[in-house]
Amino acid sequence: MNTFSSIEHSSTNPTLAVLGFKRQLVYHLHLWAFIAVAPLVVVQWQHHHFLLSGLLILFCVNALAVIALLRLRDTYFLKGRLFPLLAVVSAAYSTAINGHSGLYWAYPAASALFFLLPLREAIASNIIFVTTMAVVSFLKFPETDFWRITFSLGLTCVFSMIFAWLVGKLQNELSRVATTDPLTGCLNRSQLADILNSQIQMRERYERLSSLILLDLDHFKLINDQWGHLAGDKVLKEMVLRLRKRLRESDRLFRVGGEEFMILLPETNQHECNLLAHQLLTSINARPFLENIKVTASAGIAEVSKGETWSVWLNRADQALYEAKSSGRNQVVSATNQPPSDHQSLGTPPTPVAS
Ligand code: GH3
Ligand code: MG
Ligand code: MG
Repeated sequence: MNTFSSIEHSSTNPTLAVLGFKRQLVYHLHLWAFIAVAPLVVVQWQHHHFLLSGLLILFCVNALAVIALLRLRDTYFLKGRLFPLLAVVSAAYSTAINGHSGLYWAYPAASALFFLLPLREAIASNIIFVTTMAVVSFLKFPETDFWRITFSLGLTCVFSMIFAWLVGKLQNELSRVATTDPLTGCLNRSQLADILNSQIQMRERYERLSSLILLDLDHFKLINDQWGHLAGDKVLKEMVLRLRKRLRESDRLFRVGGEEFMILLPETNQHECNLLAHQLLTSINARPFLENIKVTASAGIAEVSKGETWSVWLNRADQALYEAKSSGRNQVVSATNQPPSDHQSLGTPPTPVAS
């Protein structure tokens, strides 16, 4: 088998990639807002607006802290919430004391809410902000200005909200596409290392067992040759449906090769895993696919052992699958608990278990 030598722990994890984009967004918003707002501290101080100056100093200190933390530690605090909070409070207060020159800042402050807060929180905060700004404008400006300000600010919020909502949907869709196999809808390899590692952590810290099954269809090339590639694809799809019927919500089904699948079973020991693997093989070979295509599968199973890395765990299951194939196929073989001594030769060097 040995299809795992190309899986690197550093393979791009789409969830981490999305987080990376979010950090970049936070970094640039804080940087450019700091550059724009810092001179205003002096301006407001010169106008003896000490409270507003204080608010702007807080804004700048927060921006600098977030920028420094992102640069040095790749992290930030309070999910970036202080930025929009201080921005809207400063904009509303500045409008109240400075009139139009404060009002101009309300527009970027309103859109910052949508960039930095989760959508629902941003909508709620914006309703409060627009209402506050409407009250301030009503008291501060002529009635015609009040209507213009309220509607233009409201419209800016609606546009920003639509944009933020679409970006959120796009992010989810991109993550889904990047983590699943288009033919079968199974998970692909992108998160395999991280998901196996999280089960290893459960074993190390809480003595929670999990097991995995590597399942490979037997002589699938012959099925393609005899019935055509399209029929082969349909068999793969139906096979996944049959597997899913037997699996729990918490089990994770990966397509790790053309006709090779990995099933991760949390809270499952070797014995339970063995029973399930037999049932899965029966669900495949008991009934023909597409009415008359007979298919069998072989499986290797392995329970996670204490102290082993994800690649050693996977290679033990791979070794068991290899044995199932060489002993005649259509059977389940359990891996021994000892890591194979030649795991280095299987291609993937053992990686240290993160603590
Ligand atoms: P074994 O019992 O030793 O596993 O034999 P096998 O023929 O199943 O294995 P082999 O690795 O020789 O061939 C795998 C075949 O799976 C070859 C390839 O055409 C087929 N295959 C891989 N991916 C797909 C796919 O997405 N759709 C279809 N229809 N066939 C695929
Ligand atoms: Mg095969
Ligand atoms: Mg194969």
